Amino acid sequence: MSRLSNMAVRDIETVIHPYTNLARHRETGPLILNEGRGIHLYDDKGKRYIEGLAGLWCTSLGYGNEELVEAAAQAMRKLSYTSIFSGKSHDSAIELSEKLKELAPCPTSKVLFGGSGSEANDMQIKLTWYMSNARGLPKKKKIISRQRAYHGVTIASASLTGLPWVHADFDLPIANILHTSCPHHYRFAEEGETEDQFTDRLAKDLDDLIQKEGPETVAAFIAEPIMGAGGVIIPPSSYFPKINAVLAKYDVRYIADEVICGFGRTGEWFGTTTMGMKPTSISMAKAITSAYFPMGAITIEEELYQAMLDESRKLGTFGHGFTYTAHPVGCAVALKTIEIYERDKTVEHVRQVAPVFEKRIAQFADHPLVGNARAKGLLGALELVADKKTKRAFDPKKAIGALCADILQENGLIVRAMGDAVAFCPPLVITADEINEMFDIVAKGLKILEERVLKENLR
Ligand code: PMP
Repeated sequence: MSRLSNMAVRDIETVIHPYTNLARHRETGPLILNEGRGIHLYDDKGKRYIEGLAGLWCTSLGYGNEELVEAAAQAMRKLSYTSIFSGKSHDSAIELSEKLKELAPCPTSKVLFGGSGSEANDMQIKLTWYMSNARGLPKKKKIISRQRAYHGVTIASASLTGLPWVHADFDLPIANILHTSCPHHYRFAEEGETEDQFTDRLAKDLDDLIQKEGPETVAAFIAEPIMGAGGVIIPPSSYFPKINAVLAKYDVRYIADEVICGFGRTGEWFGTTTMGMKPTSISMAKAITSAYFPMGAITIEEELYQAMLDESRKLGTFGHGFTYTAHPVGCAVALKTIEIYERDKTVEHVRQVAPVFEKRIAQFADHPLVGNARAKGLLGALELVADKKTKRAFDPKKAIGALCADILQENGLIVRAMGDAVAFCPPLVITADEINEMFDIVAKGLKILEERVLKENLR
């Protein structure tokens, strides 16, 4: 540990790092990032990095945005806190709810706030169950998610997540949460199966699952328009129209998890529209405040609101709420963030630069280590494979994706590897030149990676 800085040693001795190999961390120590400006971060030695994953898919307006800082400071000065429990309210909560109702890609009656994406999806589960009970359908409780989905880490939202390491040792998933097939054509299509045949099969898988479980027991289906943490999986364009048709046959809530895709990431305000979903409700977080304040929210459809009214008449209250539900600082920051998106035409900007991003990613498709190169809007991934022809994956123990991310980091680009899919999700304010700079680093990094793979016989 001697080559580690004093702060790094103190980190190792005190901090638990989420989604980190804690044993390896004891040897490598942390990357300490104390400063950010625009799309760049600076480490404790002053080295500059492009933040190629917008933090955790969230810092859409980049770092050091003085307007957001000022909005937060003003809100704190004026009213650092009030709850909206027991019928209290404040202007920012009202204005933000109105704004989200106006923007939402599904018919929306009301808005309910939480502090994160996990809390948003946790509330979706609670309210789905609540509505079934209110409707006198206590057996209608099952929620269908998908393998490789990411919906959060609370006990219930981690159960929706379809990744084994989020379940292992935690005794998850909990009862009533099911997972159907993942729409990753490159990885899961059968030999010779076209995209259209593949999505037919997946729609049938969902239909069969609902039939097998009993439609009267199935209460909801949840999906990200584009899966993020599962490896940036962009479903074929025929996927959601077919899923919509299956769900329309049954009486289920249809939840779109817009935590990553929401607020412009795909070149439209919501991924739901880009991917052709027809949800009953959406979950939001991350870019809602450009990560300047923790916040999550869900839309409440009229039918659910009516059920909530009836139940609160019976029970005397609506029995849910966090201390920080609709925190006035968070609401003020979210309002300012959305005002900036509208004023600066951020979504149009994404549509303008996305072709550069998509083209640069597509160019890597010919690289010997890249099995699949995919992008939509400003969200993309390179899936690394040991054998391009057979699509054989690398031995997970070799952690090639993590090695690639390490090499890119050494070369000034921060990204994240999900298994062997290296993900790109830069701040939405990135320029075309900066996108080119980012992928020039990727080209250099892949060359270094290729040499290491050959030299160390990692295939
Ligand atoms: N849903 C999606 C699609 C996400 O990507 C994430 C976080 N990466 C979450 C939910 C959970 O959000 P949080 O980490 O804010 O709890």
